[in-house]
Parts: sequence; structure tokens; C-alpha cells
Amino acid sequence: MVNARVSLAVCAVLVLGGCLGGPKGGKLPADARALTFDPNWAELAVPFGDGHDHKDPASHNHSTPNFKVAGWNPLLSTHYGTTPGGHLCGDSADGGSRRYSAVQGAGDVGFILVDVTDGSRPQVVGEFVTPTSTTRDVALTPDGKYVVLGQSTPHAPEKGVPGAPIAVGSATWRSQCNDGPVTVPVQTSGPEQNVPWGAGVLLVSIADPKTPKIVDYWPLPVLGAHSIYANTVGDNTYVLASVVNLVAAVTYFELLQIVPAANGGKLVHLSYILEEPTQGNAPVINGHNDGVIMTHPGNGKVYAWLAHWHQGLVIVDLSNPRTPTIVGRWTDNPPGNTNVGTNDAGDIHEALPSDSLWNGKHYTFVGQEILGHPTKRPSGYMRAIDTTDPTHPRPVAIWSLPVDVEWGATLQFSTHYLSPVNHTVFISHYHAGVWAIDVSDIQNHTDLPSIGAFLPTFVSPKPMTQYGRGYSWTPTVMETNAMRNGDIIVWDSSSGCYVVQFDASQPAPARTWPNA
Ligand SMILES: [Zn+2]
Repeated sequence: MVNARVSLAVCAVLVLGGCLGGPKGGKLPADARALTFDPNWAELAVPFGDGHDHKDPASHNHSTPNFKVAGWNPLLSTHYGTTPGGHLCGDSADGGSRRYSAVQGAGDVGFILVDVTDGSRPQVVGEFVTPTSTTRDVALTPDGKYVVLGQSTPHAPEKGVPGAPIAVGSATWRSQCNDGPVTVPVQTSGPEQNVPWGAGVLLVSIADPKTPKIVDYWPLPVLGAHSIYANTVGDNTYVLASVVNLVAAVTYFELLQIVPAANGGKLVHLSYILEEPTQGNAPVINGHNDGVIMTHPGNGKVYAWLAHWHQGLVIVDLSNPRTPTIVGRWTDNPPGNTNVGTNDAGDIHEALPSDSLWNGKHYTFVGQEILGHPTKRPSGYMRAIDTTDPTHPRPVAIWSLPVDVEWGATLQFSTHYLSPVNHTVFISHYHAGVWAIDVSDIQNHTDLPSIGAFLPTFVSPKPMTQYGRGYSWTPTVMETNAMRNGDIIVWDSSSGCYVVQFDASQPAPARTWPNA
């Protein structure tokens, strides 16, 4: 339960400014003194073995001092009365004077909207409850007007889960500024209007964050969106849904556009991007995929940068978004490998192009999501791919955890999403928290150095353990979002939303794993 003072503050913001006039972000004063680092900081950050309890937050209190926590919110759910858990994939919109973040929740919680304008005081604006629907990922449009939900196949009603309320209806909004759950207006009509929101894209207008509206829906056969992305390039606001159907030949990316409409907005289908299944050494089955849409700063063209499991990095020219053209590919999946996860190669799950040229070069960072300990390195890798010529991508540098770890469970120390701040890339790393990677000198570093680690270890006053959701180990971080003011939003599965800051001027002693 958020205290009354915070509740009143949120309501005042909503009433007076429609969430447009939040308090100014609170930056910590620069730490004038030199930081002291334990020479074994990297080993300390990934404890394991006899005597270590992966479920004990206090046993992971080993963040490097160049990370500072500015603010924290346990995301207590009005619907469940606890931290709902989940919070695996989120997004943020940095409007300067107003900054919103959103993250998916477990169970019936489709997303939680958080006002992070003041980084020292992240505040829950509301939670969007969609009974029986399953939200895998959320995206915010850069203008902060829409939350786009990537839905996968629905789940059974939470009947029988001890203590869980049974929610009914299409969707409700739980906000501190409303006396109770408010029915979310559904301002789209069609054959799906009376069924639970299944596998597809759900477009939610938060123009009035006190009363969000469902304004459109687009189905994504068969299994729905594994991940969802939104960005505005020029005058166009694109939505890219990455659909994993497990069979590589029928796994695809769906490109949509958000256009103005009388009801608040509309999703317009532009194209499907369906990679030839013979690419990437012909995998039969694939795993998670993802993608972003950004302009290449070298040639000014708009591309989709797709992470496509064993099919690797796929670069798609969107000069005409209705006729997308694949122009570049890179994969290290070896011939004949058709396993869904190999841990050593392929398994490409994220792709992040730089938004500027560095010394005349353009780099795209790609990373894996893996199931277990690779053969020759402790964890999944992140590679820097030279994409100066997007038709001939080539790998030039690599990073992985600089110290070995013993995996206690599937996915436990996997790499996940990437987020950049200047020449530091932050990689979300499941139970290893968040690692800072120095990418300032790629041309002279085949093995990219680690320069810090952050492990969220706060404990929710009302944890969600009674529902058995999320991962049993803590922390678990699958996404961070970097804001323009330097704030980094870190989502932890069991303890909620952190706002942290990283001092790149005081790197931890560089550590590398000898991949080369
Ligand atoms: Zn642990």
C-alpha cells in the first residue's frame, strides 16, 4: 500500500497537469571523491556454490560503488495487494519534462505505469488489469501517449489461486486517484470485442492517464508477440511485433503503424517480415526474437534491426515499409545445428544499433538469451557488429561475464536486453543483475571490458510469494531502460522498479573474459 502522502501527490499531478507536469528529476550530486573498488568486484557480483542462497537478497548485496540507487518503488498492486511479480520486460518514454515507464506484470496485471519524472521518487500511476490475458512485453510510444501491449495466448482465470481475486470484464484500471477499479473503455469494435484479449497487439491510449482507453487490437497468429517495440521515425510511429511460433518457417515480424483516429488511435498493418527458413543454416525450431526500428546514421535510411535467434542479426530496409527488403544478415549458428538453444552460438535475442557514428564506424550490438552454461565462456555473449555497411555486417568485438559461474537452473545467468548510455552498454543478465560494458574503444578491444555491476536487493514490504510467480532466485533482471538525463530504470522481478545512476568517469577495474 502506497502511503497517503504519495497518493495525494500523484493525484495532484494527474489533476493539475494530466501527468504532464511532474516534479523535476532528482539527480544525485556528483561524487567528488574517488571510489574504491574491491579488486574481486566481479567475482563478488555473481556468488554461487555451497553456502550461497540464490533466494536471499542480502547475499547479493555486491553492486559496485559506481552505481547509485536514486529511487525505488516496489510496485505494490492494488489488485493483488502485493508486488505482483513479473516486471520482466518494460519500456520508458523520456519526454524531458515528463518521463513514464511501463512494465508487464504477472497474472492479470497487463502493465504497471510508473511516473519516473523524479528519479528519486518513482510513483505508480496505475495498473492495467486484463483478466485471462497474458502480456509478454510492453512498449511506450516516444510521445508517452500510448502503451502498446504484446499479448501471447490467454491464461486460465485465476480461480483457485489462494488469495487471488477473480477479475472479470475486458480490462480495468486501478489507480490511487480512483475509488476502485475503473472499467477501461473499449473504443474498437470487431469480432474480437467480446473475447479476452488474446495473442496480438493491444493499443492503449494513456493520453488521460487517469482513464486509459483500449483503442485498437491486431491479432498475431498463432502464439502472439514475444516482444513489442514502438518508435517514431520522422512522421511515422511504428510498432514492431516479434512473433515466435517455434517453427522457424512460420515465425515472423509484424510491422504496424499508429495513426490518428477519432477514437484515439488506430493500428494500420504495413507488412510482414518473414525470413527464409533456409537462412541461418536452416534451423527447424527457433527461440525468442526481438527487433527495433532506427535510422542508420551513415546513410540516413530507416531499417528494422532484427534479432532472429539462429538466423542471427537481420537488417531490413524500410525505405518503403509496405515492401520491406532484407539487405544484411549475420549469424554464427553452425551448419547442421537445429537445436533450439545451443548456448555457444546463435540464440540471438536482442539487437541494438548505435544512433551515431563512432570514428566513422557504425556498430550494432547483438546478444544472446541462453539456457545453460556455454562450453567456453561463463554466460551468453554480446557482440559488437560493424554495420557501417549494413549489407555486410561483420563481428569485431565480444563480451561475456568476466568470471565463471555455476548455473543452478535454466536461464539463471543468461544475458538479456541491452541499453546504451553514451559509450557504456548496460546488459540485463537475469540473476547476475545489470553489467556495465565499456564500448568506447571497440577498434582496440576484441574482448570488451566490464566496468561495473548492479544487483537490486531491496525487499518488497508485501512480496508476491504466495502466488508463486516469477523466479525463485532474486534478483532477476531482464530489462533496463536508459533515460536521456542519465537515469537508468531497472526492473527486478521480485522487488519492482529501481532508478539508478552510473558514474562512467569512475569505472571499476576493467575485467574481461578471454573470448578471443
Ligand atoms: Zn545468487
